[in-house]
Amino acid sequence: MSAETSVISNVEKREANVFAMVEPMEHEQVMYFNDKETGLKGIIGIHNTVLGPSLGGCRIWNYENESDALWDVLRLSRGMTFKSSISGINLGGGKAVIIGNPKVKRDEAFWRRFGKFVDSLNGNYITAEDVGTSTDVMSIVMQETKHVTGKPISAGGTGDPSPFTAYGVFLGVKASVKQLTGSDSMEGKKVAVQGVGHVGFYLIGHLIKAGAIVYVCDINQANLDKATKEYPSITVVAPEEIYGLDVDVYAPCALGATVNGSTINQLKCSIIAGAANNQLADENVHGHALLDKGIIYAPDFLINAGGVINCYREIHNLSKQQTMDLIENIYSRTLQIFEKSAKENIPTQEAAIRIAVERIENEKKKQ
Ligand code: NAD
Repeated sequence: MSAETSVISNVEKREANVFAMVEPMEHEQVMYFNDKETGLKGIIGIHNTVLGPSLGGCRIWNYENESDALWDVLRLSRGMTFKSSISGINLGGGKAVIIGNPKVKRDEAFWRRFGKFVDSLNGNYITAEDVGTSTDVMSIVMQETKHVTGKPISAGGTGDPSPFTAYGVFLGVKASVKQLTGSDSMEGKKVAVQGVGHVGFYLIGHLIKAGAIVYVCDINQANLDKATKEYPSITVVAPEEIYGLDVDVYAPCALGATVNGSTINQLKCSIIAGAANNQLADENVHGHALLDKGIIYAPDFLINAGGVINCYREIHNLSKQQTMDLIENIYSRTLQIFEKSAKENIPTQEAAIRIAVERIENEKKKQ
């Protein structure tokens, strides 16, 4: 460790006003970590631990500045609190972000150091894979801490969570179709899947098996080739065409914030239900916009919870059947949210958040 001290400018001090961001979002704890030797630096956000230890993936991203990294970790950890609560599992919300280029390969020392930082939180935060990390990375992290999930099967974990996520998303799509038509049959329903990566690929499988007509787009040709080889009946469209397709369901499975002022004007679908996190660019604006346009929106953090439910399985040694039973609940909970949304005339996202918060508040009263 260097004995030198550095001076920070007033601008940097102003930007480092953490409480101004943390207080309105009600985070319990924010940990900054830094290791000069490995170049590791990042932030762990612990939003809420009323239901259980906080859990959320570790993301690497080239953040433009520290405030962006802080904002991301706060937003994502808060989302994890709602996701676990609405899914009926006893976990809180947490997340880790590492500042750096996700494409750079890091060595073992880097990940072991991260594991040490996670371990120093004594189980208050449990990590997992996310953008830029993998089950292989988690098998290194686990050498320094037991507070890690999403490990490879060879390391005693449950491996890739994507098939579980995809199944939950499929159930969310079906519940939405039921809300629209009175029947959850997917026969002949047209679905546009944006992104055929890990989750999108498995989602297509469920849709085809159920008789849906599937359109896809991706910016990665190798992923498109894999999908068309496995499912020759799918139709590939250009990425910019996906929003304007005349389909029943738009399933965002690539990026966040794709439901925004520009895309809502283009959408011809009756339903939005997909895997991507934070689909609404602004949850205070675009949830209402969808309500006004009569588009049924299945809240992302509810229907993409299969992955976190699978992490819960790893922590509590649940059987595969117990895990599937928890994921099956996504169907009825999606319908419950549609009902609340209609009754209270509020966007579905807001209805879902209210139910998630209510569960936490009820639990808090007992503690
Ligand atoms: P992934 O990286 O494997 O797949 C994403 C796919 O989207 C890639 O094929 C990528 O090329 C494509 N893509 C990127 N930009 C695009 C664009 N502009 N247009 C079309 N395609 C584009 O990721 P994943 O694991 O399949 O996850 C998909 C989404 O679901 C992400 O937002 C992720 O955060 C979310 N999610 C995933 C899981 C999980 O279990 N993997 C769980 C919860 C939420």
